[in-house]
Amino acid sequence: MEKTLFEKIMTGEIPGQIEYEDDLCIALRDINPQAPIHLLIIPRKPIPRVGEASKEDQATLGHLLLTAGQIAKNLNLENGFRIVINNGEDGGETVPHLHVHLLGGRQLDWPPG
Ligand code: 5GP
Repeated sequence: MEKTLFEKIMTGEIPGQIEYEDDLCIALRDINPQAPIHLLIIPRKPIPRVGEASKEDQATLGHLLLTAGQIAKNLNLENGFRIVINNGEDGGETVPHLHVHLLGGRQLDWPPG
């Protein structure tokens, strides 16, 4: 199967600023940041989207959120941050490899567009 964009970044075929990595995921700086801090927490496993995750992905999905929370703490985002997961066309997903957006460093609006 063709590698996803994020898999190519993980293997170094495409450049990317990886800020953190472990055996289950990486944290990549978004190429088009929407806030002073905008990282993508991406599982090494190319799960396309939350709606296609399975029971066997439960630990990985939990790990993504815990990692996002820990990174927010490390980056001193004690004033707040936002976690976003876009799913499918209406959800605004553009890269079909599951990723958690971690946004912070400014007041974020609600509701989102
Ligand atoms: P989505 O729209 O699927 O929720 O999020 C995809 C994100 O990936 C977008 O925020 C977009 O800016 C980011 N992105 C797209 N291509 C690249 C790339 O080549 N490198 C990096 N670091 N981010 C990318």
